[in-house]
Amino acid sequence: VTSILSYEDAVDLRNRYIGKSCSLFYRDDPLKIVRAYKQYMYDDKGNEYLDCINNVAHVGHCHPLVVQSECHQAATLCTNSRFLHDNMLLYAQKLVSLFPPSLSVCFFVNSGSEANDLALQLAQCHTQAGDVITVDDAYHGHLIPLVAISPYKYKQRKFYNKPDWVHVASVPDTYNGRYRRQSDDENTDFGLLYAKEVENIIKNVQIRNRKIAAFIAESLLSCAGQILLPSNYLRNVYQYVREAGGVCIADEVQVGFGRVGTHWWAFQLQGEDVIPDIVTLGKPMGNGHPISAVVTTAAIADSFYKAGGGYFNTFGGNPVSCAIALSVLHVIESEDLMKNAYEVGIYILDLLNQLQIKHEIIGDVRGIGLFIGIELVRDRVTKEPAITEAKTVCDLLKKNFIIVSRDGLHGNILKLKPPMVFTKQNANIFIEKLDNILSNLIL
Ligand code: PMP
Repeated sequence: VTSILSYEDAVDLRNRYIGKSCSLFYRDDPLKIVRAYKQYMYDDKGNEYLDCINNVAHVGHCHPLVVQSECHQAATLCTNSRFLHDNMLLYAQKLVSLFPPSLSVCFFVNSGSEANDLALQLAQCHTQAGDVITVDDAYHGHLIPLVAISPYKYKQRKFYNKPDWVHVASVPDTYNGRYRRQSDDENTDFGLLYAKEVENIIKNVQIRNRKIAAFIAESLLSCAGQILLPSNYLRNVYQYVREAGGVCIADEVQVGFGRVGTHWWAFQLQGEDVIPDIVTLGKPMGNGHPISAVVTTAAIADSFYKAGGGYFNTFGGNPVSCAIALSVLHVIESEDLMKNAYEVGIYILDLLNQLQIKHEIIGDVRGIGLFIGIELVRDRVTKEPAITEAKTVCDLLKKNFIIVSRDGLHGNILKLKPPMVFTKQNANIFIEKLDNILSNLIL
């Protein structure tokens, strides 16, 4: 049995018993999804939807090997991490092997928020400082200190005042940000320009006798609107932050585990020499099961330990979670999913670039691997966000059995981050439907 409640009862109970603040896709006409497999989701009426957004179902929904390892371990042992267990140790060993050698110590937690919260604790303990620099429109989680470093979230809250330990750098967006590229052959070093802003923030903090503990940024900006960091951005920012005594945190919760196709981690796109001090992982790590992690240097982990930072997390790193996470890594490798992400990503971007020529509303197309953004604008010169149009496009795609979400502060950026098994045929269908919808869109 995959469905117990009727659709109407489900809507009614959701409205009655679940907080309205908890987001629900297509709130006016929500989907009741009852099962999923690979890159497809099925609703209570038996309709099949192409899933273009579930980055959590990284190796495909309900991958048989992942499910099998989960069931097997659940039937054998599930307890906390206060005992030795092979799954955690083998996973930590494997995970660390995918990072540059300096990142060698793991902490296992249950969510991206917990990972970022622990990252802040580690940073503040190691540096004996408190101030944090974050990037505008970022989202790093739902815990109190994370809302503070998540302008994407707190800007929507009428009751919120940003605490004074938080400093916000502008989004290094070369399409619609403070410094913009005018033509493709421009030689401006946008990474440096935007990094200089972080340097200024640091100077202002120091003038006020405060100290920087950390800089935190996603290695590709997802919530801010699927933005690729300009090259040289992290290299320079990390240098300024370290010179000021701070540490650098890369939030790879959305973009890690090979989504970019060329590398395991998106920070690696900025160059082999660009290495954070703390990396946070989540969403895709357990293919839908809650497991997350912090990976850091031995020095930072030791500082925390020596300062009395005992750490216990009831569910973090339990044998079932680690069995699942191990099989996710196995599937990424054995099915060559990074290569697929790379190839299908190029294919989609190419098709989108062709659509952009045809449809004025597509202001920008960007991305890498299976992490792609399509910015819809009312006017290519003013770049006025096409907010209602983006919502209409998503609603119409849903009517065409394609699930796509929107992001960015204004919600005008269509966001693609499908399971890594997404194919070129899937891309063709998405593009064909999008093309039809945009051709008939009344502006
Ligand atoms: N960081 C980023 C970049 C995220 O996208 C999210 C979740 N959207 C989080 C952290 C928080 O993760 P979680 O919802 O698992 O707490």
